[in-house]
Amino acid sequence: MRALVYLGPRRMELQEVPDPVAEPGEVVIDSIVSAVCGSDLHGFREASSRRIPPLVMGHETVGRIGAVGKGVDPERLGQRVVLKPILSCGRCDACRAGDINRCLEGRLVGRDLAGGFAERFAVPAPAAVPIPSELPDDVAVLTEPLANAEHVTERAVREGDVVFVIGSGPIGALMVRAAFLHRARQVLVTDTNPERLAFAVAQGAEEIPSEGALEAVTTATDGVGVDVVIDAAGFEATWALGLQAIRPGGRIFEIGLGAPSGMVDFFTVLGKEATIAGSYAWTDQDFARSLELLADGALTADGWLTRVPLAAGQEAFEDLADRGRPFKVLLELG
Ligand SMILES: [Zn+2]
Ligand SMILES: [Zn+2]
Repeated sequence: MRALVYLGPRRMELQEVPDPVAEPGEVVIDSIVSAVCGSDLHGFREASSRRIPPLVMGHETVGRIGAVGKGVDPERLGQRVVLKPILSCGRCDACRAGDINRCLEGRLVGRDLAGGFAERFAVPAPAAVPIPSELPDDVAVLTEPLANAEHVTERAVREGDVVFVIGSGPIGALMVRAAFLHRARQVLVTDTNPERLAFAVAQGAEEIPSEGALEAVTTATDGVGVDVVIDAAGFEATWALGLQAIRPGGRIFEIGLGAPSGMVDFFTVLGKEATIAGSYAWTDQDFARSLELLADGALTADGWLTRVPLAAGQEAFEDLADRGRPFKVLLELG
């Protein structure tokens, strides 16, 4: 079978590799489409201790069950599924509470084992989640990224809040939608890339230009500041902007992978009694809710995705890394 193999920073190669086998308790997913995530892109751009080459990345995948291992219901053969890519131990306190994203033994498909940028891959059967027949592939593939947005907004946003989303890549744009689903009164958004900003604005947010962002936020909130900041960029400059834009007592959620460390103005944190929280991936509940929202028509995929054949994967990664476009890439596999 064919797989797009990550060989090191800025190197992807289409290779012929052996077919996977469904071990006991596993299924083989025949991929239909796999979306490129910002975290895959992060791995493509620079060496990361979390994505060790050679590796088949990809954790946002829709496919069909092509083989079942011992102990898996053979009725599942042919079932259309979305990948739920966190594999957790199932036994620890975090797992038992459903917080699979906090499992210390957690693994991610497409990072710790081969993932969806291949025609086929094997996963434990519960990681292949059946999807309703009326839900198109191109929408179902947003289940995992929307679950990320759900995980943040479920905790961050209360009815009537003014929310400021910093960074309007696919996750930022999904944050805008999710913030409205959680009844935010107003959502402001900023980004340095005008095309990306325009897309998030089309999701219903108010545009904050990246030049003079703080002044624009101050004007938009009558000098009060915002209730919630969702930082989907994660650079020193955006940490600072978030802290300046937040009202006293406000809440800041960090989800962007921009920089691993840097200066934070803690005088402002304590002076404003701001709360800074991290957000990583999603829980079982977020994933289920995300799939439910999509099945209920919370999003259409219009304008979100650009389909690219698997063979053009390397170029697609380069375009995303160098030009921030197209917005979100969907590799075609089936
Ligand atoms: Zn992802
Ligand atoms: Zn666990």
